[in-house]
Amino acid sequence: MFICSAKKRCCRPVGVKVGVLALQGDVAEHILAFREALADRPGSTVVPVRHVEDLVGLDGLAIPGGESTTISRLMGKNGLYEPLTGFEGGIFATCAGMVLVADRVDDPRVRSLGLISMHVARNAFGPQINSRETLLNIAGLADPFRAVFIRAPVVTEVGPGVEVLARIPEGIVAVRSGRHMAFAFHPELGGDFRLHRMFLEGLGV
Ligand code: GLN
Repeated sequence: MFICSAKKRCCRPVGVKVGVLALQGDVAEHILAFREALADRPGSTVVPVRHVEDLVGLDGLAIPGGESTTISRLMGKNGLYEPLTGFEGGIFATCAGMVLVADRVDDPRVRSLGLISMHVARNAFGPQINSRETLLNIAGLADPFRAVFIRAPVVTEVGPGVEVLARIPEGIVAVRSGRHMAFAFHPELGGDFRLHRMFLEGLGV
């Protein structure tokens, strides 16, 4: 994005501001991943978000993997439900984050934000196979993505306006809805930040 100063009649580039919800989960990995993805955008910042005032000026927000029941409880405690429901930037949600942005979740202990029209089943891979790595074809990426699944959810149904970006036999594992994106796996792990870049492009800033 460029801000033009009428006085100086010039344009200067302005960076992107991304927040990472820092209540629980793999916060540090998301901060590093977005810093890497924004390395070619001077003036960009990536900041942890714990309170309502931390949301000011954000173009995008990552909701990390972790434990969705815990993050849900802490969002309530910090008064974040209402501000996040009305958040105008894009949301990049991974794993537990995918559970939290859904409008329907199979576990009543999770109070979700209802930002993406989809039904999500938690811990959908069964107790024996809690983690795995899969080479995944994702719409919009030229080459497969090495996806790390850790006690992952799946999307069992999407509503209108939700684009399915990837699916595996167990269900849908990547979606886009307007400026929001959600993944059942962990794109912040593994050093491949193509999905972060795709998200940043979708913000239009
Ligand atoms: N199983 C966790 C949950 O539902 C998600 C796991 C993860 O984020 N890696 O909250």
